[in-house]
Amino acid sequence: MKVELSERYQDTVLGREAENLLLPCVQCGQCTFTCPTFRLLDDEWDGPRGRIYLIKQYLEEVEPSQDYLPPAYTLKTLEGKTIGENLKIHLDRCLTCRSCETSCPQGVGYGRLLDIGRELVEKNVPRPLKEKITRKMIRSILLHRFRFTVLLRAGQFFRTFLPASMKETIPVRRKAGEWPDRPHQRRMVIWQGCVQPALAPDINAAASRVLDRFGIRIIPAGEGCCGAVSQHMGATEEARELMRRNIDNLWSHIESGAEAIVLTASGCGMQFREYGDMLQDDPEYCDKAKRITDMTKDIAEVVEEEWPDYIKLSEQGDVKRIAFQSSCSLQHGEKLNGVVEKLLKRAGFKLVPVAYSFMCCGSAGTYSILQRGIAKSLRFQKLKTLLASRPESIATANIGCLTHLSAVSPVAVNHWIELLDEKLPSRKDSVISEE
Ligand code: SF4
Ligand code: SF4
Repeated sequence: MKVELSERYQDTVLGREAENLLLPCVQCGQCTFTCPTFRLLDDEWDGPRGRIYLIKQYLEEVEPSQDYLPPAYTLKTLEGKTIGENLKIHLDRCLTCRSCETSCPQGVGYGRLLDIGRELVEKNVPRPLKEKITRKMIRSILLHRFRFTVLLRAGQFFRTFLPASMKETIPVRRKAGEWPDRPHQRRMVIWQGCVQPALAPDINAAASRVLDRFGIRIIPAGEGCCGAVSQHMGATEEARELMRRNIDNLWSHIESGAEAIVLTASGCGMQFREYGDMLQDDPEYCDKAKRITDMTKDIAEVVEEEWPDYIKLSEQGDVKRIAFQSSCSLQHGEKLNGVVEKLLKRAGFKLVPVAYSFMCCGSAGTYSILQRGIAKSLRFQKLKTLLASRPESIATANIGCLTHLSAVSPVAVNHWIELLDEKLPSRKDSVISEE
């Protein structure tokens, strides 16, 4: 795709980076039909090809014109707005699911291009006051674990008295269960994150119990956001600051011999894998950030590598039918498609088929708050496909999807590691090789 940066962006780092990302796009549209927002809204500008085109036009400071548009495009939905306003509207509607990256034959780095587009929008395109306040409030709550926990607990306390529409947004309280402390020689750090400890403390506890059976001690670390919330809202510098803080937080564990940084939320895992790139120009943090990226592992990768053959599963009892909802960050971001499915089958679960498994459930971080209508429609469609083969429960790999789906799902929604924890033989019966 030919790009002619305007004078304003010609000599900027962001402009040059965007140009390099835009060049391989040939506007073929193969990504369009795997884009959830295009499939739902049926507007080219709400698909990746249209969004990429808008970013290019913005950097060229040229309004899209019918004379130069490929045949699939129509200007109808852009009329009456500036290129900046159109860019804001259509990038806001993007889920950051990165399904388009999976289906792009050219390897276009859409995720990074989107970050650049959003950063430009936040800097240059004014938002109405209501939007500004909402976005500020979301960040000021989600980035502070204490504030989020206090608000959540208050909501849970009054939940019974709330109308159904509000009740649905406040999940019931979940208990963590035991966190083992057997003194294994092998140690890994598990990232706690911002909302997960308050919403579902049972997930990391289940991960620690599973890895305890494998002879690995799990140490909880890190409180706060991984940086994804700020980055996806265009506050890139704020995201970098959070990354630096998290590196400082994790560094003592790395120096004292932790083998890996384990994440049970694939959304955060995707973000941790970007630390190296995001801080590559920071002389103080670039090496440490790269190390963090190299050490990042989703819990699925750890279980796949470490599950010893001597831990056998009982073949007695009913086989539970599970629908696995592969989160976008897991399959498109971390490229771990099929790993959890294999582990659940090895654990003896029956996985029911799920159509359109590449589609986002609509959670997408803060998306379910900022774009409620689209998020609800996508959830409705996702649940329809998940429940089509009548599973007994739904498993997922990300706290956002879990919370979003369980709000209206008629069957239980759990993190898959909790199902594995229940299925494996009790920890006292597990033979640990080092003991
Ligand atoms: S599939 Fe890739 S090359 Fe084709 S339009 Fe989409 S991003 Fe561009
Ligand atoms: S990230 Fe998802 S919603 Fe955004 S353009 Fe790509 S496929 Fe569409």
